[in-house]
Amino acid sequence: MNKPSLKASMLEKEYFLKKDRELIDKIKHDEEEKKTQAERALHFGKCSHCGAKMLSLEIDAAAMLFCESCHAVQMNLHDLDNLSVKHKLKHAISELLIKAKYNKSA
Ligand SMILES: [Zn+2]
Repeated sequence: MNKPSLKASMLEKEYFLKKDRELIDKIKHDEEEKKTQAERALHFGKCSHCGAKMLSLEIDAAAMLFCESCHAVQMNLHDLDNLSVKHKLKHAISELLIKAKYNKSA
């Protein structure tokens, strides 16, 4: 049986160290991804200001989330842009103020 040369032995050692490092990096990446997904699932539909569950609304064809606890509103830029024409935004704000007032007295 031939004894591997010192250089071949070093190359083999480097190869397995590299493979170990890649495997460890992949495990860390997968764990980080799993943690991120779990955090996203935990916060999905929750208010970024107070953490309460947000109410899904549609006003003038614009989808939004409304927090009945602190009255924060969340919507995407496209819907906000659509609301900004022809007093639609003012109407949407009025609807949300009515909802906030109604929720306060309930
Ligand atoms: Zn809130």
